[in-house]
Amino acid sequence: MVMDYIARKLEVNGIVQGVGFRPFVYQLADQYHLKGEVANTSSGVTISIEGTRAHISQFIKDLSEKSPPLSQIIEIIEKNQPLNRHTAFKIVKSRGQTAMSTLISPDVSICDDCLKEVLDPNDRRYQYPFINCTNCGPRYTIIDDIPYDRPKTSMKHFKMCPECQAEYDDPLNRRFHAQPNACAVCGPHVTLYGRDRERIDTEDPIHHSADLLKKGKILAIKGLGGYHLAADALNPNAVIRLRQRKRREEKPFAVMSFDMETIKKYSNVTTDEEALLTSHQRPIVLLRKKNSNNDDGPVREVSPRNQYFGVMLPYTPLHYLLLNHGFTALVMTSGNLSEEPISIDNDDAFDRLSEIADYFLVHNRDIYLRSDDSIVRRTAGEVRFMRRSRGYVPVPVFLKNKIPPILSCGAELKNTVCLTKDKQAFISQHIGDLENPSTLDFFEMTILHMKRILAVDPEIIACDLHPDYLSTRYAMCQDIQKIQVQHHHAHIVSCMAENKIDGPVIGLSFDGTGYGEDKSFWGGEVLIADLKNYTRAAHMSYVPMPGGEAAIREPWRMAVSYLVDAFGNEIPDTGVLGLKDIESRKIDIIKEMILKKINSPDTSSLGRLFDGVAALCGIRNKVAYEGQAAMELEMSAGEITNEGYDYEWSSGEVLKIKPGPIIKGVVKDIKGNIHPSIISSRFHTTLIRLFTEMCSVIHKEKDLDRVVMSGGVFQNSLLLTGMVKALEEKQFKVYTHKLVPFNDGGISLGQAVVAAAVLKNGL
Ligand code: ZN
Ligand code: ZN
Ligand code: FE
Repeated sequence: MVMDYIARKLEVNGIVQGVGFRPFVYQLADQYHLKGEVANTSSGVTISIEGTRAHISQFIKDLSEKSPPLSQIIEIIEKNQPLNRHTAFKIVKSRGQTAMSTLISPDVSICDDCLKEVLDPNDRRYQYPFINCTNCGPRYTIIDDIPYDRPKTSMKHFKMCPECQAEYDDPLNRRFHAQPNACAVCGPHVTLYGRDRERIDTEDPIHHSADLLKKGKILAIKGLGGYHLAADALNPNAVIRLRQRKRREEKPFAVMSFDMETIKKYSNVTTDEEALLTSHQRPIVLLRKKNSNNDDGPVREVSPRNQYFGVMLPYTPLHYLLLNHGFTALVMTSGNLSEEPISIDNDDAFDRLSEIADYFLVHNRDIYLRSDDSIVRRTAGEVRFMRRSRGYVPVPVFLKNKIPPILSCGAELKNTVCLTKDKQAFISQHIGDLENPSTLDFFEMTILHMKRILAVDPEIIACDLHPDYLSTRYAMCQDIQKIQVQHHHAHIVSCMAENKIDGPVIGLSFDGTGYGEDKSFWGGEVLIADLKNYTRAAHMSYVPMPGGEAAIREPWRMAVSYLVDAFGNEIPDTGVLGLKDIESRKIDIIKEMILKKINSPDTSSLGRLFDGVAALCGIRNKVAYEGQAAMELEMSAGEITNEGYDYEWSSGEVLKIKPGPIIKGVVKDIKGNIHPSIISSRFHTTLIRLFTEMCSVIHKEKDLDRVVMSGGVFQNSLLLTGMVKALEEKQFKVYTHKLVPFNDGGISLGQAVVAAAVLKNGL
């Protein structure tokens, strides 16, 4: 059986340093009688092993299935190698600069061991809200510099008591070198304040806070990555008051419940969703509401006109202690006013949140880097990020090839930035909408911070084509080489990068808005793209956006625009359409603007088509947040039907898809009293058919069989699921996002990879 004795080299990439990974590998090798060695590298570890084929395959299986809790394996690259006749298995010491390039762990939810201790009256950390260990606790949000050691974190102000120090120094202790280690004697504390900053004298601030929440009060609570605003999710008055004070009319609030059992009382949860909820990243997961939940779950004001609740489990000891007071669910929404960045600093929180919160539950462990809760949803069999932030950042996306150090500045809304280092792309936490000065400060601070903790000094800066994006303006002021990247090309390349593919591909970039090379607003784009270049193979025909930005806030304006596009000046009677609440005088003004081209920039956006159809169906004429009308149109749809509307495109070098026939079909159905849910289904079916046929046409001409899908419109689960299915039936290979958002949160990754390709191949 000599033939069966083989050698393999494994390159393991991911978070595998500083998390007990090499000792784990050592034990595993020992278990399977393997010889060889393991060593750290700049992007992970390499393992050389020799042994029987069966043992090696079992070893590789266990490597990913049984790895230590905080490790995160991104990929294992397996290679054959000649037998080296190792006589033992060794851990090789890190060489040179690898010590400095250790990946920093994201923040990790409290582990089961710590949770047990914090709830155990006999434990010395009973009810201590800052308990943590090597397997859990804050990381990214408390680090100021590298290497990751206590003096470089916000724990530097707390000197460990002898008991904590002894744990920290003991290699066999769970708290060996746990940098944020603390206890009630030596660590941070919570304090309760009134909104006027007067300290509330209480034995137990957390218990007191729970009482206040039960009385319907709104609390600002300092958490891991920033402040939350909390209210009892089953108290309609508290929730409505929170909406009014936060000036957030309709956008759903996230809720937090103590455990899975409670969550299942008011939401339907699949096994995959449960795994996401209980993962150590603890994201907000969108869960389908139970139909009969009215009495047992969050009140409807928590997430009005939406089939989903955004739900998370507690992720800090403080959350557990608070929720452990018999709440079914607490609203836990970001501690900010509307779209501002969330508060992290105590003074700032009192300044900005005292109009919203009645009380403040504060602590004295500083947050160095703000990090919002991540938001995910399971769609078409995969995890889809709506927001990739706390718990996931700064885990890099691993690229196919090494690229130079690049800083990319992202888009305007849902901004993230990205720094690259070798084969790793570090996408920042969610920064937000760069429309206000405080978000811009946060943007600049994040860039400085990431450069420091990742030890990257970018040689190139990449940004959007839009001259007025604040991220573009920032890039233009920097004294290094600049590369501008078209928005929808960045979307497609972002998806190509995470799937590790090169072009050319067919790229479907379905989006709200993005600046085109002809200065109009693109967003219904069929591109032929590689990493460096793209051409427009097809796009939605341009229609005017009457009033520009106002047409995004008021979808009825888009409805009028599509009606004029389909029917000309003599549009159908809007009284029978969803526009019946809009005065005819206003509609006439909009028609004038369209026909005379006054303040009506052209757009090919599919997001706007969704808005327009939603308005025609009477679903929504005005929106409180971007994408709301389109989302409610999706939510209103029944099962996808076989019926669709007619569609057509004009021939030529670039195919132009006419919205007219679709709009005519919708109008005919509305006049025929067809229910909006059926119209919505037919509309979705139409788009799926149209773009699948379009891909087949391009396939015939250009022989491309890979389709890459990106852009915010694909957050629509019906459309995404339907497109994947239809394209796969036609034998296309379909690539979608699983690591970064479809929305503009993924733009920075695409910009960096395009910039690298441009550099490599010359401008
Ligand atoms: Zn722990
Ligand atoms: Zn202590
Ligand atoms: Fe976009």
